[in-house]
Formats: sequence, structure tokens, C-alpha cells
Amino acid sequence: MKNRKKLGIIGLVVVLAIISFAGCSSNDVKTGNNDVNITTDVVVIGSGGAGLAAALEVKNAGKEVIVLEKMPIIGGNTLRATGGLNAAGSSAQATLGLEDTVEAFFTDTMKGGYDKNDPELVQILAEESAEAVEWLLSMGGDFNDVGKLAGATNTRAHRPTGGAPVGPEVVKTLRSALEESGVKIMTETIALKLIEEDGKVIGVIAEDKDGKEFTINATSVVLATGGFGANSTMLVEYNKDLEGFGTTNHSGATGDGIAMAQEVGAALVDIEEIQTHPTAVPSNGYMITEAVRGNGAILINRDGERFVNELATRDVVSAAMLAQEGKTGFLFFDQGVTDSLKAIDGYIKQGIVTEGETLEELAEKAGINPENLKATLTDYNQYVASKEDKDFGRNDMPRSLENSKYYAIEVGPAVHHTMGGIKINTEAQVLNAEGKAIAGLYAAGEVTGGVHGGNRLGGNALTDLIVFGRIAGRSAVNN
Ligand code: ADP
Repeated sequence: MKNRKKLGIIGLVVVLAIISFAGCSSNDVKTGNNDVNITTDVVVIGSGGAGLAAALEVKNAGKEVIVLEKMPIIGGNTLRATGGLNAAGSSAQATLGLEDTVEAFFTDTMKGGYDKNDPELVQILAEESAEAVEWLLSMGGDFNDVGKLAGATNTRAHRPTGGAPVGPEVVKTLRSALEESGVKIMTETIALKLIEEDGKVIGVIAEDKDGKEFTINATSVVLATGGFGANSTMLVEYNKDLEGFGTTNHSGATGDGIAMAQEVGAALVDIEEIQTHPTAVPSNGYMITEAVRGNGAILINRDGERFVNELATRDVVSAAMLAQEGKTGFLFFDQGVTDSLKAIDGYIKQGIVTEGETLEELAEKAGINPENLKATLTDYNQYVASKEDKDFGRNDMPRSLENSKYYAIEVGPAVHHTMGGIKINTEAQVLNAEGKAIAGLYAAGEVTGGVHGGNRLGGNALTDLIVFGRIAGRSAVNN
């Protein structure tokens, strides 16, 4: 009895040591030596936007939450998002005098997804989008610049002032709020398996950076592990045309959550719907935000000719790009576009932009036919002036391209977003093949399917992961 008590005290000391380690000044905690069980209210797997939003909702509801992140840094693909966060009816839009409606957002998203989307999920996405922005603004985030991305009737892509990349701002905002409320994020800690008992998910088996397995018991588990855009085997399994494609994804996007959910009977939806982003840098898969085109850039081929409506949906632009010589094209823009979008400064610093004081200099450096380029620009600038694109019917041409310097970035399509995934309902509960919720299991963000249908509109991923991340967090608490 005495010995058992002693062992109990030692056990308690070990657990307290781990928890106090986990609660040390930085909230990104490297686990170690903890082959013990931990018990909490909610475990969130994945620290991208969906996971962070879910965790914050849990904590705000007064429950305990642990976030597991297999990579050394938090943020996942969310950190790479640049274009914007779509929302209709936000205070930021009102300040800028931009009109928009939930109905227009819903219609655009369904149309963009070829009506393959789950309308109930899309309705929630649109309805709760403005509140998602207000929530982030209330935590001190900067989402005050609003731009237009492809497929949107109205200007609704929220991003930091000056058009800076949106993903880092989302991660930074949520991370500070989580740090303030003392939520533990265990980095370099991979979730391996969901623990199921009597058809109910009751925890997770995880492994720390030293390869030690441990168990977290929880009332609810939220899967926010992102997509599988960096898992070439899985990509080709669902779409053989993607063999050999590059990817814009971070290396942790390997579809772990989909596999874990399937093991406990989750249904998948639209899993073969994989989006390629038309403007990635061929050498490294680095994605150039759609906002560059939104702010006025055009796409040209090596012959110096335009070949598509630059603001057509991503699948259409990707297909047009693949039909060009070398299967790539060039984003072409001038100083006016560069001055309008901070993100471009970052591209220049990375050395992926070709620059020229004159059109001839640029054409020569980039390997583009100079005469045709000049003729293309004369035509295009006339279309801007007359507000009618006679070649490709592009509606949104915010500025002419005639101010030196001139810039070009070689781009081609790369795997970008896996639109299908785990089937969820409007409460972010994970559904099985019979459409019944699997008790204790919730999912949000890119790991799920249904929101984007057959084609995701730029700016909708961020809305998806904040809106459904929050819902998953709240549902997990209500469980
Ligand atoms: P979303 O946009 O849906 O939030 P992200 O790609 O931004 O998705 O984030 C998902 C995060 O989940 C990434 O940081 C990724 O490293 C993490 N992750 C993926 N699989 C696991 C796993 N098995 N265990 C822990 N973290 C995981």
C-alpha cells in the first residue's frame, strides 16, 4: 500500500514535470521522456489555421486542449497562404465602401465548385465568413486590405494592409491568442492513431521526437491535419494525371488525418478532386499568389502572347498553361502592379523575378519574343482603357501595364489543394458511410471534403479553416 502510494506520487511528479515543461514560456513544446498517459478535454491534431482556431474556441469555452504538431514549426500550409480570406459583409469591406452579400458568396462558391460542393456547408461558410474576419480583427490581426480573386463577383479577399500574405497573419494572430491563454502546442509530436472504444473516439496515440509513444485520453478529438498535397503516392492513387507534378505544399501535407479517420470508419467525399495552382515557380513549387493577377498582371507565353483569361478559375488557367510550349508561361506586370502588392517585394527578394527597365530588356532576359510582347501590351492596354478584353473576356483589368520597370516570373501548374477529404456535417462531426456521426471525432480544414466541390476559389481555404475550425472546437466542447 505504502509502495503503491509512493509510486503514485512519483507518477504524479513525472506528469506534473511534463505538463510544466509543456507550459513553459514558449507554447511550442518539444516533448520528451513522456511515455505516460495524459488526459485532457480535447486533443487537436494539426496546428494550421483550422487546428489553431479549433483549439482557441475550446480554450475560450473554459476547457483544456492540447495541440499536436508533427513538424518543428506550427502553421502547416496555412503559413503559405498568400491571396486572402474571403468574407462577405465584413467591417473592413464597409470601411472601403465595398458591397457584398452572403448570397453572392454562396453562389460564387457553388458555381466555382461546379455545384459539386455540399450546399449546407457552403451556406455556413458564407454566413459565418464576416464573423471569422471580425474574430481575427478582435484579436489584433490586420485584415484590412480587401482584394479581388478569381471567381468572386465582389471584392472580398481580406488580407493585411498593403496586400501582404494572409496566411502568416492568420497564424500569428491565433498563435498569440493561444500563447496568452496558455494552450500547449506539442511540436515534433506526431499523432499515429485514434483510440476507439465502443464506436467512440476517446483519444490519440502519439509519438514524440525521440520516437516514444504515449497516449492522450480525451473526450473529443479534432482532426485538423490538412491535405495530402505533398504525398505523391496518394495524389497519383486518386488522380494518375498528377504523376511527376510539383507541389506548393509544405512537406507535412501527407494525408495522415485521412488515413486515421478511415481506420475508424469515416467516409470520404470528392477525394479525387485535387486542385493545381496555375502559378507556381517550376524550380521549387513556390506559389505566386493569384492576387498578382488580381492586381493586374497578365499571363504570356514564350511567343509573347496571352493565352487565357488570367482570372478564369484555377483549373481552366492550369489547363491553358499546360498547353503552352514548355508547359509554363510568364506572369507579366509593371511597376504599378508591383507597387500595389507587398507580396511582390518578397518574390523579388527571393530572386525569382526577372526585371527589365524596358520591355526589350525584360523580353531578352526572360526568353520572350519582344515584338509580340509589345503588340500584346498595346492591345491589352487598349482593352483596359475600353474596359473590354476582346481576346479573352477578362472582366477585371484594374490597371494598364505601361510603367517601367517591367517584371516577369516563369510559372506553371503544381498540386495545390486537395479539395476532397473526410466527410463532415455542419457541426464538423465526422460521418461514417451511413451518414452517422462518429462519436467524439470532429474535423475541419483541408483534411475535410465538401466545401469546395470540384474547384476551390482562391481565398476560400482560409475562410473554410477559420469557420469550420471554430465550429469543430465548439462541437468538441459540447460533446
Ligand atoms: P489547414 O489549412 O486545414 O489548417 P494546414 O496544412 O495548414 O491545414 O495544417 C495542418 C497541420 O497538421 C500541419 O502543420 C501538419 O504538419 C500537421 N499534421 C499533419 N499530420 C499530422 C499528424 N499525424 N500529427 C500531428 N500533426 C500533423
